[in-house]
Amino acid sequence: MRRRGLWTSEDEPLSGSTDPKSRGLANIDFRFTDLSRRGTIVKVRHGVWQLAAPKPLSAKEFVSAPSDLAEPPPRFESRVSRVIRDTRAAQELKSLYEFRCQVCGFRLEPSPGTFYIEVHHVRPLGGGHDGLDTSNNMLVLCPNHHAMFDFGIPRFLSPDDIEMAGTRYPLTTKHHLAPDVITYHNNVIHKPTDRP
Ligand SMILES: [Zn+2]
Repeated sequence: MRRRGLWTSEDEPLSGSTDPKSRGLANIDFRFTDLSRRGTIVKVRHGVWQLAAPKPLSAKEFVSAPSDLAEPPPRFESRVSRVIRDTRAAQELKSLYEFRCQVCGFRLEPSPGTFYIEVHHVRPLGGGHDGLDTSNNMLVLCPNHHAMFDFGIPRFLSPDDIEMAGTRYPLTTKHHLAPDVITYHNNVIHKPTDRP
């Protein structure tokens, strides 16, 4: 089964590289197969690619139903619930981070001057978790890192950095998470990565 957010062999032809990253859980920010649907991929420097032709920031935000809704029901429901949860607090936080992911800094630009980013609730709102829809329970994340958090893969090392698959990633932090939601994530949501 293909897991969202993880490097797979389908990404190899687009990357033009068969480095060790192709094995299993890789330290990548985006799958090439996802990026290539949104535009032309250009190589920025060794090992780093992004979508071509970045545009100046505007306040416009891309809002649309994901194009991959013909997926199994659980994911369909998950994606829909993310859209309707976009409250004012979430919108303000997205603007604060200029629509950039707090983990990788990437900003998706589906059309010129229009950006797409997601907000993750660290302690989930539903499912018996009873998290709050407030900014001190939110992270601004790209879809891939949002999926990583939904899978429970990252672990907080501190309020300002996380660990995924043995690698530390500093977060961009312009707001503060409540200490109890960080503890909740590490104790309840985080699932230690399977090691072969
Ligand atoms: Zn990201």
